[in-house]
Amino acid sequence: METKSKDLRTGRSIWEDRQAPSVAHAPLTRDIKTDVLVIGAGITGAMIADALTAEGLKVVIADRRGPAKGSTTASTALVQYEIDTPLTKLARKIGARNATRAWRRSALAVNALAARFEDLKAAAEHRRSLFLAGNELGRAGLLSEHDARRAAGLTSQFLDRKQLRDYAGIDRPAALLGSPNMTIDPRKITRALLRECTVERGLKIFAPADIVDVRASRAGVTAIADSGHHIACRHLIFASGYEFPKSVPQRGHSITSTWVIATVPQRKNLWPSECTIWEASDPYLYLRTTPEGRVICGGEDEEFSDAEKRDALMDRKIRTLRRKLHKLLPKLDTRVDYAWAGAFGQTSTGLPTIGQIPGMPNCYAALGYGGNGITYARIATEVICGALTGRADIDADLYDFPRPKA
Ligand SMILES: Cc1cc2nc3c(=O)[nH]c(=O)nc-3n(C[C@H](O)[C@H](O)[C@H](O)COP(=O)(O)OP(=O)(O)OC[C@H]3O[C@@H](n4cnc5c(N)ncnc54)[C@H](O)[C@@H]3O)c2cc1C
Repeated sequence: METKSKDLRTGRSIWEDRQAPSVAHAPLTRDIKTDVLVIGAGITGAMIADALTAEGLKVVIADRRGPAKGSTTASTALVQYEIDTPLTKLARKIGARNATRAWRRSALAVNALAARFEDLKAAAEHRRSLFLAGNELGRAGLLSEHDARRAAGLTSQFLDRKQLRDYAGIDRPAALLGSPNMTIDPRKITRALLRECTVERGLKIFAPADIVDVRASRAGVTAIADSGHHIACRHLIFASGYEFPKSVPQRGHSITSTWVIATVPQRKNLWPSECTIWEASDPYLYLRTTPEGRVICGGEDEEFSDAEKRDALMDRKIRTLRRKLHKLLPKLDTRVDYAWAGAFGQTSTGLPTIGQIPGMPNCYAALGYGGNGITYARIATEVICGALTGRADIDADLYDFPRPKA
């Protein structure tokens, strides 16, 4: 098997009960030839197919499940430029210059996504973001983080206890207010992208089609599906989410578990501005609202990926999330309408690995990691489409696989 199949999510995510565009797909029943094969019909594969078909390339997607049936449907979908690793912390890991580049690139990616979602007429709610002081960064840590963000040219407003209470009714020593960011329905947007590409630009989606083997050479790539059929292509892209290709170096990556609840609708109890909220804590809590006035609250991550263990903890994690939510915003009704859990990818720097796979000519990986998987999916799209169309990306080295020095 080319990527090990995982139990990516359990429980019913809020997005599964919402209307989303239908996307044509069919099982693979013959050998085919194409310019580019993308493995994965989640939000990353959809963005890549969108960009490549817009360039006039012939693109095929194969997915072992179906359109938006992997981690994308479990996502809480805060689309933020503030990446998981604070700028000050990332600077200690990869140097101030590269950390600043990574943060700025995320800000550009969020802007690009906002523009694309608007074109697509798929609703994205524009939201400011509130990063609360916690056990990892207290007031002083947030002040340094604020200075670093401002020095990098990024939006940041420092709120002290009183300003924070006035802004959001939250009692914490300090917070950073950022903008602009978004919240989306990840399943709907993925399917809207895929639908537009299939209807208008000739994208073909084969599902269920499990790619079990890949043979790569300088002349081209052949992927073999579980049906025994071959897909011959010039380039192959793994957009396979947390199911990593066995051929990809996995140093520094880990898969953990995470839990989410969505409350009953309660527009009258929501905090002013409905900004997204998350905290500089471990374990951390994060929240957003939905258009019908629910609160989605997630976190409580654990360092294991075993699905049985993850699911057995569901009731306990729901209780903890409700308790923490109540403590943060006592006016909220914490009764739960939806609860789900999922696998979650992380790297030691919080940055994804994107680029040509060492030792596999013409093969690329765009793997969605961490709490910024959607922002990173856009960056992966830009880096990989640039490589395929002869436009070297100025930031490609930030995300590339480690390579032996020439
Ligand atoms: C609970 C949770 C909350 C999150 N919250 C956020 C958030 O707030 N903001 C954010 O930006 N990100 C968030 N993320 C991360 C983000 O959702 C993911 O990074 C993103 O959805 C990954 O999309 P993808 O398309 O890369 O992967 P997926 O949606 O998993 O799609 C990959 C597809 O590849 C297919 N596949 C794999 N291997 C093969 C194979 N060999 N053959 C055929 N098909 C294959 C799978 O079937 C799957 O459909 C969250 C994730 C989780 C789980």
